[in-house]
Amino acid sequence: MNKPFLLILIEEKFKRFNKYLSIKMFVGELPIAKKGMLFKCKLCGQKCCNLYPEISEGELEKIRKVFPSFKPYFSSEGKMLLLSEKGYCPFLNKGLCTIHEYKPIVCQIYPFYPVEKRVLDDILELTEEVEIIKYGSEEYVFFFDEKCPGVGEGEPINFMELLKKFLEAKHFLKNPL
Ligand code: SF4
Ligand code: SF4
Repeated sequence: MNKPFLLILIEEKFKRFNKYLSIKMFVGELPIAKKGMLFKCKLCGQKCCNLYPEISEGELEKIRKVFPSFKPYFSSEGKMLLLSEKGYCPFLNKGLCTIHEYKPIVCQIYPFYPVEKRVLDDILELTEEVEIIKYGSEEYVFFFDEKCPGVGEGEPINFMELLKKFLEAKHFLKNPL
């Protein structure tokens, strides 16, 4: 079973602090997006920039056009992460993203995390209110980080667009999501 990328990022975080993470317990605690949910990024940098986003080779190249000497952090599994010695993304400055134009897909789709519905069938019972997006032969639902201040604000979310970005990332990141 492929893991949702939020869980991979959080595992990285927890490894750093040497704590044990039960993925099944964690999945059970995350809220799932409902139909008609609203979102508008407030550009606050409060939550999304502390999750050690993984970047692809292509994204690294784009960042290096602006910051030629930039070196990503390599995890024990060889993933390239945006993580500085300060414990958060090196491009976060005074709460704002300084590479907004080049920010990786992982950052673009935060705070939503698509998961194949069939992966959850034995773990969770989904209500009729849950947004389910069909794509090809799969169906997806979207966990989200409710601590992001943009949740519940602005316009209805285009979940299909989010899903396409996620699937794009799934193809080019080093480790499958
Ligand atoms: S995604 Fe959420 S936490 Fe990140 S900058 Fe936007 S509102 Fe803030
Ligand atoms: S690239 Fe920008 S949005 Fe992504 S973690 Fe870094 S500062 Fe935050």
